[in-house]
Amino acid sequence: MKILILGAPGAGKGTQSKFISEKLNIPHVSTGDILRKEISLSTELGKKVREYVESGKLVPDEIIADILLNELKNDIYKNGYILDGFPRNLNQARILEEKGIAFDKVILIDASEDEIVKRLSGRRVCKNCNAVFNVYYNKPKVDGICDYCGGELIQRDDDKEEVVRNRFKVFYEQTMPVINYYEQKGVLIKVNGNNSLDDIKNEIFSLLGVG
Ligand code: AMP
Repeated sequence: MKILILGAPGAGKGTQSKFISEKLNIPHVSTGDILRKEISLSTELGKKVREYVESGKLVPDEIIADILLNELKNDIYKNGYILDGFPRNLNQARILEEKGIAFDKVILIDASEDEIVKRLSGRRVCKNCNAVFNVYYNKPKVDGICDYCGGELIQRDDDKEEVVRNRFKVFYEQTMPVINYYEQKGVLIKVNGNNSLDDIKNEIFSLLGVG
């Protein structure tokens, strides 16, 4: 099963992708996670993309498409995957189509801007394993420490307020057309992203027929 997950920054794509990945036993592939890893390791690629990611701008299409298409060649994705973070604009959606990559389901987590701003300010991510927590909704057992691997929890640079505003603008202008594109293909499923993480998860599982 090939699934794509879409939603505004902070709508909970990463968290729900992990739930779906475990339930369906398919790997989660996130372009944002790949980029953040390259940046933290200061690789050549990391140096090239750092400025875009840290200011909330989109990385140029050719760079990100190459990274993703290369990643998807890996054998672990041959039985399906859940893709998070790509495509972010119509050109990227067309690149996938040209490569013959289509999705069985496209999930949109539909959340209001007010709700999202609250979530982002509380979001903390594990520096080591990328697990996502929230100091309001999904607290770690011990403050600042990852429940799963004991790593340090940090606030992403791009979760800072000014960058968040820019990421929203990019989402409205560039990613909204991608949602319409998949809606017209008849594969879009919408879930209410203002609900709790558990309710969103249950709604997704039920719409995927695995509840
Ligand atoms: P995310 O974790 O998906 O919100 O991605 C974090 C940042 O990585 C974005 O704000 C962009 O700078 C960059 N990024 C991730 N995926 C893409 C993409 N498909 N196209 C362009 N930039 C991307």
